[in-house]
Amino acid sequence: SEELLQKKDKLALVGQLAAGVAHEIRNPLASITGFVQLMQEGVINSRYLEIMKSELDRIELIISEFLVLAKPQAVRFAPCDLSQLLQNVVVLIESQATLNNVRIVTDLSPNLPRILGKENQLKQLFINIFKNAIEAMTHAPDAVLHIGVQPSERQDALSIHITDNGCGISPDRLAKLGEPFYTTKEKGTGLGMMVSYKIVADHQGNIEIFSEQGQGTRVTVTFPCQ
Ligand code: ADP
Ligand code: MG
Repeated sequence: SEELLQKKDKLALVGQLAAGVAHEIRNPLASITGFVQLMQEGVINSRYLEIMKSELDRIELIISEFLVLAKPQAVRFAPCDLSQLLQNVVVLIESQATLNNVRIVTDLSPNLPRILGKENQLKQLFINIFKNAIEAMTHAPDAVLHIGVQPSERQDALSIHITDNGCGISPDRLAKLGEPFYTTKEKGTGLGMMVSYKIVADHQGNIEIFSEQGQGTRVTVTFPCQ
């Protein structure tokens, strides 16, 4: 049946992604194994621990960006206070912003209508988007990450705007966003946006990206309210 086919397609997609992630993890893993062997044989000393640590960090990053998709989702949809959730994610991301000289400005009014969501997935979604914004502003002189949430006029949807004044995205690159492993960063995973699109789709939401090269980017995520 159609339903079965869809399930099969989904499984095939997950299989492909898992294979891709496994491939990405294999390289740092192989290099760590090599270093451990050389250390056991006394060929190299602990100076290489730093390289090993950075390879481990790489594995950790790949897994953390992929985690919500890889984990079986037993969690049910529940009413979520998006202002509160965004505030909590801001706390998580604050140190990374400070390290990159990025100022965070929020406009999160309380008492907004609730949306139905999976809290962990929504957190991962905003972590991925905020991280990209901060990373895009590493060379911006007056870097500001603006995060705002607004109800629609008829109060039947909520829009979250995430705006940065970073490097921006050219139109041809914009089209590639969300493709697995598409990255322009030396240490990127290219998984963040793919995972974000999947989470938004799972929530019957919508994601739009406006960007101007050299000016900045605005990501708008819209969710239906309860
Ligand atoms: P990663 O961050 O690991 O590169 P993502 O899937 O999160 O992977 O993002 C893919 C690419 O999209 C990034 O490498 C970057 O080129 C582009 N991108 C995403 N968000 C932004 C942004 N706010 N500003 C500029 N470029 C962005
Ligand atoms: Mg990213």
